[in-house]
Amino acid sequence: MKTNCDAGCHIAFEVESFSTTRIGDGVDKIYFVCPHCQYEYVAFYTDPEIRELQVKIRRIQQRFANPRADTVKAVQREAELKQQIKGKMDALRARIESGQS
Ligand SMILES: [Zn+2]
Repeated sequence: MKTNCDAGCHIAFEVESFSTTRIGDGVDKIYFVCPHCQYEYVAFYTDPEIRELQVKIRRIQQRFANPRADTVKAVQREAELKQQIKGKMDALRARIESGQS
């Protein structure tokens, strides 16, 4: 993934990997850092509930590889979970970045 260091040195760079840090209260911060100026960009936050949903979604995605699975239902369920995860991530991020917890 190529990105531009908009908030830092404005140099484009390739995001090679995300790092994870536990910031307390079971919350993980997933982020990457500009290799030029070390500016940190948060990709998203997870809490135990979100991580559980991520496990569920991975399990569902494995069904896509199974030709006998009911993929219509799996696709539907995947979309529902994605929506749930996004909503929870947005709420968690807003909570963390507003300084309350
Ligand atoms: Zn930078």
